[in-house]
Amino acid sequence: MRTVLHGAFWLAVYLAVVLTPLVVLLLAPTPAGGGFWWDVAIGFGFAGLVMMGVQFLLTARFRRATAPFGIDAIYYFHRYLAYVAVAVLLAHPVVLIAINPALLSYMNPFAAPWEMAAGTTSLFLLLVLVASSAWRKRLRIPYEAWRVAHLLLASGAVGLALAHMGGIGYYAGTPAVRVLWVGIGFSLVGIVVWVRVLGPWRLLRSPFRVTDVRPEPGDSWTLALEPEGHEGFSFDPGQFAWVSLGHSPFAMKEHPFSIASSPSPGGRLEFTIKELGDFTRTVGRIRPGEAAYVDGPYGAFSIDRCPEAAGYVFIAGGIGVAPIVSMLRALADRGDTRPHRLFQAHSRLDRVPLGEAVAELEKCMDLRVVHVLEDPPEGWAGERGWITREMLDRHLPTERRDLEYFVCGPVPMNRAVGRYLRELGIPTSRIHTELFDLV
Ligand SMILES: Cc1cc2nc3c(=O)[nH]c(=O)nc-3n(C[C@H](O)[C@H](O)[C@H](O)COP(=O)(O)OP(=O)(O)OC[C@H]3O[C@@H](n4cnc5c(N)ncnc54)[C@H](O)[C@@H]3O)c2cc1C
Repeated sequence: MRTVLHGAFWLAVYLAVVLTPLVVLLLAPTPAGGGFWWDVAIGFGFAGLVMMGVQFLLTARFRRATAPFGIDAIYYFHRYLAYVAVAVLLAHPVVLIAINPALLSYMNPFAAPWEMAAGTTSLFLLLVLVASSAWRKRLRIPYEAWRVAHLLLASGAVGLALAHMGGIGYYAGTPAVRVLWVGIGFSLVGIVVWVRVLGPWRLLRSPFRVTDVRPEPGDSWTLALEPEGHEGFSFDPGQFAWVSLGHSPFAMKEHPFSIASSPSPGGRLEFTIKELGDFTRTVGRIRPGEAAYVDGPYGAFSIDRCPEAAGYVFIAGGIGVAPIVSMLRALADRGDTRPHRLFQAHSRLDRVPLGEAVAELEKCMDLRVVHVLEDPPEGWAGERGWITREMLDRHLPTERRDLEYFVCGPVPMNRAVGRYLRELGIPTSRIHTELFDLV
């Protein structure tokens, strides 16, 4: 209930922030020569600009604000709101040109007055920003280059939009309104400084040190980190952190990984990482003693969000088992006696990351593991193929509605399993998923 209230509170804050410029528009003296559709067009511009500003806030990783939803959900919200913001901002020139087609000539930034050129260029940057994000994988833009470009394009688009608005001065004539827009401009600069300067500086002052790098089956590595000269941070089992290895935290070369270890007093952290791309393929070459920077914890994927459950069902695909092992380890450390189940989907039995850890956990707690193998060995009598609804139905107890479900794997698996669970009568509120694919 507390989580729902928190969520409702932050949604209300979002709506209040986005609608503020429209209130300002109502309060400001109406410029002569406008009219209803003119005001609507200006309103689209103001609201779209604030929506763009809020996009910065959404990815600023404010723990308190993101905790009720989980930061992965906030990133998804950010992604979909970007489309809405672009639609609202495009409506601004479209309505203006519909009212007065002569304004079309202002769309050429080389021939238009500077304040109009600023507006057109801002819109152009925004479209590049959205297209390069929506089709990043198809356009083969490397993740890290994309991140830097994303920040530059977003800052440029908002800066030029503010300049456009200030230069035209329409509905911004009164000192109070000007103060409001200057305040919004400074807040955005403040957020960028907070995220890109103060955040990394804080991480630099509380470094971690690599203490172990162990190979795991399935092209994976377990990396152990210990805080150096500080206590580390406490986290809920199942949460994740952004890790920088071999780079300063200012370099924007961090990667999100779930913490696979159980919360421990010394602040030691373990991450199990699958070789999937440029960075993860280098993890095996990291040596003990190297410095690491860890920004966390984040995420709402944790058993500690629903501690009263009758038991937990974990459904893991591939490396999605990492946060689940953290939760299982925490349950084992706490001497938990409830019955739990783990469905573990992978290609082969000898390629299961953290397979040994799971086998150990099976011995010391009431945990039943169902392996689902795509490529089972000869004579395999267990489940095979992909997880299906019938498979879940076969292994879940009759009192399944009282259990809490944690699903983490490839996006199609998460979607399919979520659907099967709902078809089996599990309330949506009891199904928790973690998405490893933010962009
Ligand atoms: C909340 C969360 C928890 C995760 N936990 C784990 C884990 O415990 N173990 C694990 O092996 N993997 C985990 N991942 C995935 C991991 O972050 C990516 O596999 C890794 O960042 C890929 O980096 P790369 O440079 O090797 O791959 P690349 O070649 O750059 O890209 C491979 C794919 O990984 C994704 N990716 C790349 N860099 C990032 C980044 N900085 N942030 C987000 N996605 C990125 C992109 O979608 C990309 O298409 C998690 C991801 C998220 C979002």
